[in-house]
Order: sequence, then C-alpha cells, then structure tokens
Amino acid sequence: MVETNQNGAEMQNGAGAKTVKAGEEETLHDVIVIGSGPAGWTAGLYAARANLEPLLITGDDYGGQVSITYEVENYPGFPEGLSGPDLVEKFKAQAERFGCVVEYDHVTEIVVDEHPFTVRTAQSKEYRTKSLILCTGARPRFLEVPGEQEYTGKGVSYCATCDGFFFRGKELVVVGGGDSALEEGLFLTKFATNVKVIHRRDELRASKILQSRAFDHDKIEFVWNTVVTSINGNENGVVSGVTTQDTQNGAEGEIATDGVFVYIGHIPNNDLYHGKLDLDGDGHLIADPFTRTNIPGVFAAGEIADKVFKQVATSVGQGCAAAMQAEKFLASLEAEGLPDLNEDPRAWPTPGVPSKPAELVAAD
Ligand code: NAP
Repeated sequence: MVETNQNGAEMQNGAGAKTVKAGEEETLHDVIVIGSGPAGWTAGLYAARANLEPLLITGDDYGGQVSITYEVENYPGFPEGLSGPDLVEKFKAQAERFGCVVEYDHVTEIVVDEHPFTVRTAQSKEYRTKSLILCTGARPRFLEVPGEQEYTGKGVSYCATCDGFFFRGKELVVVGGGDSALEEGLFLTKFATNVKVIHRRDELRASKILQSRAFDHDKIEFVWNTVVTSINGNENGVVSGVTTQDTQNGAEGEIATDGVFVYIGHIPNNDLYHGKLDLDGDGHLIADPFTRTNIPGVFAAGEIADKVFKQVATSVGQGCAAAMQAEKFLASLEAEGLPDLNEDPRAWPTPGVPSKPAELVAAD
C-alpha cells in the first residue's frame, strides 16, 4: 500500500515512526524495486500480487542483460525458446497486470541509513519507501586494450543481437570462452562469413551443449591460448584487425577482422551502494540466501548479488524470494516497529533454517 501526504503533514509508517519530511505531496511506498531485468520484474510481480503496489524504476539499461540476448533457450516454460526482448516484455506485462507501477527513470542515489529509505533519480524525482529491492544487475566487462574505446560502435561491440546485422558478409572476432561468447558467436554466424573465437586458455568455460554446437559449426574457428592486446582500425576509422599475444610463449600475432565482439564476463552495477551496503571483493552486494543485505528492509536479487549462477531462472527465483522477504519485513514493521538499522539482519535466526554466516554464502 502507498500512503500519501498533502500540504506538509507528517506521515506515520507501519512502525509508528515519523516518516516523511514536509512537502506538497509525498508518497510513501511500501516497496521500490530498482532494475528491470528478470529479478526486478519478478520482484515487482510478487510484490504486486501481495498488494504492496510496488514501484519499479527501470534504470537506463531497460531489461538488463537478457534484453540484449538473441535467444533464451533455457528458461523453463518456453520449450521453443524466445528472444531476450520478448521475454522482458512478458515479464513486464505480467508484473503490470497485477499493479506493478513502472517508472522509466534511472536511480542516481539511495539513502539507506535512515528510514523510510530515499531514492533519487536522474529525472530529479525523490521517493520514500519502507523497503527496497535492489536488482541493478551487471554490465559487460571491457577488454581495456588500446583501440577498444576508440572503435566502440565502429566495429567493437558488446551486443551481437543489436549489432550483428551490420556485419553481413564480414569476418568477425569474438573474445571470451564462456556461454555468452559461444552463444553470441553462434548467433553471429547468421551474418558473418567466419567467426574466430579468441580465448585465453585451451579449455572453454561455456556449457557442453554450446561447446559442441560451436565445435560443429563450419563458420566458427577457435584461437586458443591467445589474448587481444590491441584493436586496430583503418583509414576509414573502423576496425580492421586485432593484435594478439600467445599466452604460452608470448608471441605476437595479427588477425584481420571487420568487427570485435567482447564477451569476457560482467561487472556488477554497484555505483549506488559504495559506502552504504556490504560489497564483496568483486563488487557484488553481499546478501544472504534470504536476499537480505546488511540493512534491514533492503534486499538484493539477481546478478548484483549473485556471483555463482547468473541465470535468468536463478535471477527470477531470487527476485521472487526478495519480494516475499520484503513482505515479511513490512509485516514485522507493522507489528514490532522499525529494527535498529545498524543491526545486520543476515545474522538474524530464521525459523526452521540452520544459521549460516552470510560470508560463507557469498564466498566462492
Ligand atoms: P563468464 O562465464 O564469466 O566467462 C567469461 C569468459 O571470458 C571466460 O572464458 C574468461 O576466461 C574470459 N575472460 C575473462 N576476462 C578476460 C580477459 N580480461 N581477457 C580475455 N578473456 C577473459 O561470462 P559469460 O560468458 O558472460 O557468462 C556469465 C554468466 O551468464 C555465466 O554464469 C553463464 O553461464 C551465464 N550465461 C548463460 C547463458 C545460457 O545459459 N544460455 C548464456 C549467457 C550467459 P577464463 O575461462 O579463462 O576465465
């Protein structure tokens, strides 16, 4: 439920605590979800079905990483597979059907050391909320070699779905050895005459099914034990090749190519959280299996807190869990009042569940 306050009167939250500052009209939300990937939409869906009228703020990267995935074949319920953007639209439609409110805006700041929490956005909006579900996901990791920035959009890409079409009849390079590199490399064979997958080891990280599809594909070649050390362009200002180095003997090489697609993993989108919430060494939010962060009422789901699974299916599950936990938190706020914000809820015992330190869960 949302509570509205007009003409500067103070509102009370479920805990009976003073909540919002004076303002012409302010709304106190029960739940705000930040992020519009699979975790965010699922949190929005479950919170909406719990009658919490969640507000979901999409972020600039609408739909998250799945929205730049050509085909999702392993999300249960869709035996024929479907495109990432189609899946995002289905997630959204389902959440909206039950009353999830969507704002196309980007969160620039959260304040979580006082309750209700505050959310500020790029469109200069400010929201108050009793609970927060953080689903800000991750973004592609850059190679960080000379030429990468210069030729981004001129042959360097991180999204085969978006840019593959422009490389019809061209030769391409894909960098990486995980699921993304192979999945997107296979997609690029629809356009390119040849796709060279450059991997720093001689063994792939990708799943076996993708490995065998790639090994069997006549347009895909592997360049093993090799890293890209620079991306080079021609007189037209577009990519013409890469310089490589053999990781075994250090030998330098050149590969001519029209485009370079980089798939070397992801970096958590954690800019909002530094100094406010516990992050691990890789920058993921440290949440326990109940999606609780170190601040009561702040939950995290999806790739921002997941360094292990990173699947659409697991992000969906985590989004669902986070909404259910937010609902429990709101009920306890109503019944028992606001807990000490300095108390780490990950240490709270959960009935029926053996206690386990959050660090063990977050560690590799
Ligand atoms: P990933 O699994 O982390 O793989 C990254 C790849 O890039 C690895 O092969 C890694 O090499 C290589 N790499 C990392 N840093 C590098 C650097 N600086 N230079 C050169 N190579 C570098 O990332 P991902 O493929 O994006 O997948 C992320 C997650 O999403 C995974 O859990 C994956 O299973 C999941 N995913 C699933 C699907 C699917 O199920 N269809 C599709 C896409 C992604 P090393 O192997 O040597 O470390």
